Amino acid sequence: MTYDPSNIFARILRGELPMHKVFEDEKTLAFMDIMPQAEGHTLVVPKCPAADLYALPAEFAGPLLATTQRVAAAVKKATGAPGIMIAQLNGKEAGQTVFHLHFHIIPRRHGADLAMHAHKMEAPEKLAAMAEKIRAALG
Ligand code: AMP
Repeated sequence: MTYDPSNIFARILRGELPMHKVFEDEKTLAFMDIMPQAEGHTLVVPKCPAADLYALPAEFAGPLLATTQRVAAAVKKATGAPGIMIAQLNGKEAGQTVFHLHFHIIPRRHGADLAMHAHKMEAPEKLAAMAEKIRAALG
């Protein structure tokens, strides 16, 4: 798949659009999903132009998984959710809507259905408060 550098996550990575940052290192960035499917829904992206998993350069695979693992543990601690779902969609037929590779970190609780995918905007102050809680849980 060709990479479109005007996609929304590329623009976030370039600092052209705002986001609620949770964690950043040399090769990855984690920030709050603006239309969360559950409270604490966080995204992790590599800092390279990869539209999907197939396009990820090998040197980003380890750092991307390491950040996902670390942030998932912090999301679990910050939300108190007993379950954490990691999702990653490739291609529009799979439901992908932003064509810069990302992992979804989604808290799950017994009996709590997920909100619809990429559907309802969360209030910025709620996202900011949750990002702060997750950052605190990262230590
Ligand atoms: P996917 O459908 O797997 O490509 O997921 C894209 C995700 O990006 C969805 O969960 C959207 O809610 C989320 N999203 C879209 N725009 C933004 C944005 N500006 N900041 C944060 N998350 C976003």
